[in-house]
Amino acid sequence: MISSKLPNVGTTIFTRMSQLAAQTGALNLSQGFPDFPAPPALLEAVTRSVQAGHNQYAPMTGLPVLREQVAAKIARLYGVTPDVDQEITITPGATEAIFCAIQAVIRPGDEVIVFDPCYDSYDPAVTLAGGRCVHVPLSHGDFRIDWQRFADALTPRTRMVVLNSPHNPSGALISHEDLQQLAESIAGRDLYLLSDEVYEHLVFDGVGHASVLAHPELYDRAFVVSSFGKTYHVTGWKTGYVVAPPALSAELRKVHQYVNFCGVTPLQWALAEFMAEQPQHVDALPAFYQAKRDLFCDLLRKSRFTFTPTAGTYFQLLDYSAIRPDLDDVQMALWLTREHGVASIPVSVFYQQPIAEQRLVRLCFAKREETLREAALKLCAI
Ligand code: PMP
Ligand code: GLN
Repeated sequence: MISSKLPNVGTTIFTRMSQLAAQTGALNLSQGFPDFPAPPALLEAVTRSVQAGHNQYAPMTGLPVLREQVAAKIARLYGVTPDVDQEITITPGATEAIFCAIQAVIRPGDEVIVFDPCYDSYDPAVTLAGGRCVHVPLSHGDFRIDWQRFADALTPRTRMVVLNSPHNPSGALISHEDLQQLAESIAGRDLYLLSDEVYEHLVFDGVGHASVLAHPELYDRAFVVSSFGKTYHVTGWKTGYVVAPPALSAELRKVHQYVNFCGVTPLQWALAEFMAEQPQHVDALPAFYQAKRDLFCDLLRKSRFTFTPTAGTYFQLLDYSAIRPDLDDVQMALWLTREHGVASIPVSVFYQQPIAEQRLVRLCFAKREETLREAALKLCAI
């Protein structure tokens, strides 16, 4: 009998719901990924880079040309320029960046504050490092950080705080005021930040993304993580990056070089080329995804689901209290998939302590117009 290091971990909900969608032929709006292609120029760039022979190991920290493009983008959007060699590391996905950041600084007995509902990869990484996650609930309904609850959760053992904005699964945003509040709450404490900003370009209604990169006091102690997968419609490329001050990057790289050593070479060449040629791609993303959100929400207004249009990410939460209040959200997601042909993600799986009366499922709207129309038709018929 194996004594598991992760006894409470099973197969993730994303795998399970995608599998069920495939088995039942349901529209898969569960796991977050686009059903439309990446920009043709990006795909052509990959073919070219493979054919040109860029098929051996990349440098451990990532191709310099790609790190330069990341630095240029950060300078343009957030007004700060990280050092290309010492502060930017290309990783095989944001997931690896998150894992390495946690392993780099968390020791047995350390506490890490995460906000529930929270993305599923933080807690197991903390557990494997010998630490313990302290789950602080976001406020009910609007998914904002309750700074009093946060202050109450801080202890001398707190070594890290994990932020995620735009937030998966709710789409809620952390504001500049929130960042300032955080800076004040942790001033003088010996702790690190992990800021998961993989949806940084998916922020709607002209609000703009409040990045930790643009807050010098917070950045001093932060790992800021992003994902090319979300930004360039290529989640299967599993390519991301982490930006951190030199001393933190050095520690992260010690882990990264033994977890994976480097990211996939031809993908890095292609991304660098595409970013250099089409920097406007990221500028167009908010409007691109906002149009999808608006279409999906407009179509769903005729349904019995209730919702507030999401502020960011490519996820929309739907409240089904008026439809099947008798079902918990896992049962609801199964029922929706099997009986109505639309797969979603139950929100309770993102909580350590699910809220019993909450009736929410998450749907991904990173889909072609016809997929969204077909899904809405099915959801409106319930
Ligand atoms: N963080 C969040 C909040 C996510 O939703 C995702 C999406 N998969 C990731 C991290 C991981 O990104 P990647 O696929 O680049 O590993
Ligand atoms: N981040 C994606 C989501 O929230 C899924 C990632 C995964 O499948 N592990 O749907």
